[in-house]
Amino acid sequence: MRAYKYRLYPNQEQRVLIEKHFGCSRHVYNWALSEKEAHYKETGKSLSKRDLQDKLVSSKKTDKPWLKEVNSQSLLASLANLDKAFSNFFKGLAKFPRFKKKYAGWQSYQCPQHVSISFDSGTVSLPKIKGIKAKLHRPFSGKVKTVTIKRSPSGKYFASVLVDDDISDPVPTVIEPENTVGLDVGLNHMLIDSQGNKTDNPRFLKNSLHRLAVEQKKLSRKQKGSTGRAKQKRKVAVVHERIANRRYDFIQKETARLAIKSHVTTFAVEDLNIKGMVKNRKLSRAIQDVSWGTFLSVLDYKCRWNGKNLIRIGRFRPSSKVCNGCGYKAESMPLSVREWECPSCHNLADRDINAAMNIRDFALADSLGHSDCVKSSPVERSVSADSTAKGADISQYGSQKAPTIAASAT
Ligand SMILES: [Zn+2]
Repeated sequence: MRAYKYRLYPNQEQRVLIEKHFGCSRHVYNWALSEKEAHYKETGKSLSKRDLQDKLVSSKKTDKPWLKEVNSQSLLASLANLDKAFSNFFKGLAKFPRFKKKYAGWQSYQCPQHVSISFDSGTVSLPKIKGIKAKLHRPFSGKVKTVTIKRSPSGKYFASVLVDDDISDPVPTVIEPENTVGLDVGLNHMLIDSQGNKTDNPRFLKNSLHRLAVEQKKLSRKQKGSTGRAKQKRKVAVVHERIANRRYDFIQKETARLAIKSHVTTFAVEDLNIKGMVKNRKLSRAIQDVSWGTFLSVLDYKCRWNGKNLIRIGRFRPSSKVCNGCGYKAESMPLSVREWECPSCHNLADRDINAAMNIRDFALADSLGHSDCVKSSPVERSVSADSTAKGADISQYGSQKAPTIAASAT
């Protein structure tokens, strides 16, 4: 399954119909949510998707005939989405479902079937809305599954097309220590790898913050409910959108560099608890700016498509506190420490590169079955750990060549 996103250019008539679909889908979602809540309060039992479907069908005949104007499958998709939201909530993956607002953020609805995309005429046809002009910049082959129509806060329309292309992912290559690179996220750098390469953090948000502040201040001065306020709101949304686009672009380029162009076949990353970290005010903006979570998910699928491996290590491994040379573990490692000398082996290490090397070693230990890859006993090791300690850790892999130099990354 692959997703393609196309910009839509609906005419006035089509736009009205799309908006109607947004409205009805949102209405059904909110209605079902309140039905569920009321039913639970009354009976202590939950209302199933099936029950809701039946209720919906009968209310279309009686009190809500206007729902017939839109694609009925889109309304059922709303119920399915609510169902999914509840099951995510019960699994502890999401918060309790909330009512969807008319004026907030993105609007969307789904078409599970009967969508056709014509590359010849450059149009997308949806149930009840035929021939919407679209910029079909990328062709695809395969079966169209679900199509989601969206409107951005800045007022642009898109179709996200999920395609079943029936291509199975290539078998991933064998994990080889010499072709494995650890990646770490930094604050001064977007990406640090265990080979010592650092990618600058583009800091889109920081650069655009001033612009955002100016537009937001203007917004705060506008009268609530006025046309001027609505206009200004869109302007703020445009600034946000530009930041998001540039960030997306950057992530696409960086992941392509790693997963497609580089010779490295296995990447090791830390599965950071982004949400927890974002709570830390000082770090939050920088972390969000880097968008580590999005970066990881894009890298993940690109690796799968290209037969490469992405190994995630647990988030509680002390990657930045351990000396990669000898395994000495520091009590604490404040963020201000950028470079440190290991008190045990006197190895002088760059904080971020050292962490990336540990991430690589932890991941290799996990996946290749070494009991503990990063040296557990500093005392024992410190005897042999001389000034060349950085290279010494490689002996862990027997005759394998040093991973730090072997792979020739781009
Ligand atoms: Zn050390």
